[in-house]
Amino acid sequence: MMNNEGDYTVPIIGIDRLRINSDGVGVTTLVCFWGCPLSCQYCLNPQSWRTKTGIRNITPLQLFQEVSIDKLYFFATGGGVTFGGGEPLLYPRFLKEFHEFVEGEWKINLETSLNVPIESLQLIADCIDCFYIDIKDTNNEIYTRYTGKKNERVFANLAWLVEHIGEEKIVVRVPLIPDFNTISNVNDSIKFLKDKYKKITIDQFEYRKG
Ligand code: SF4
Repeated sequence: MMNNEGDYTVPIIGIDRLRINSDGVGVTTLVCFWGCPLSCQYCLNPQSWRTKTGIRNITPLQLFQEVSIDKLYFFATGGGVTFGGGEPLLYPRFLKEFHEFVEGEWKINLETSLNVPIESLQLIADCIDCFYIDIKDTNNEIYTRYTGKKNERVFANLAWLVEHIGEEKIVVRVPLIPDFNTISNVNDSIKFLKDKYKKITIDQFEYRKG
């Protein structure tokens, strides 16, 4: 949402403080944006795209001031803020402005599907310490059935990101999705990724239904 310069707001649905080693290294604050281009069947945050209730609009400076309450924990543990959602890459300008306030003093992590225009990624890639990419499944038919969208853009964006920031700053999450893929599909996805990116970190896990 664009107002006057310096008064740029985005919709968020929640701020969760003092998380430990769950969304990045150390103590983190998870900030969830509203809005997502996908419609995943087992979305844990459907309020981030199905309804517009519970939204709060916030500027980068307001968010920086609010999360700074925990900066001593961030300093002590190497933690920081993790942006999730929803899809944080819907708001690259906000992320860039927030990053300018942080001045590299603590970490900024991002949880994303990467199913966004590459321009959004290019704008903020240098501002992010670690990308957590939920790849769903590399099989386009499974991906489309589960999310309602195709996945070609995800791979083009991943290739650009690896080339631009290196594999060390990327964790790819590969879920077992009950009723949508199998452990064999998960292994295929991991092989596909490992064949392309030898040093990439893979996080394999299972979605919960409902
Ligand atoms: S990408 Fe995440 S927020 Fe968006 S619909 Fe899927 S699970 Fe929900």
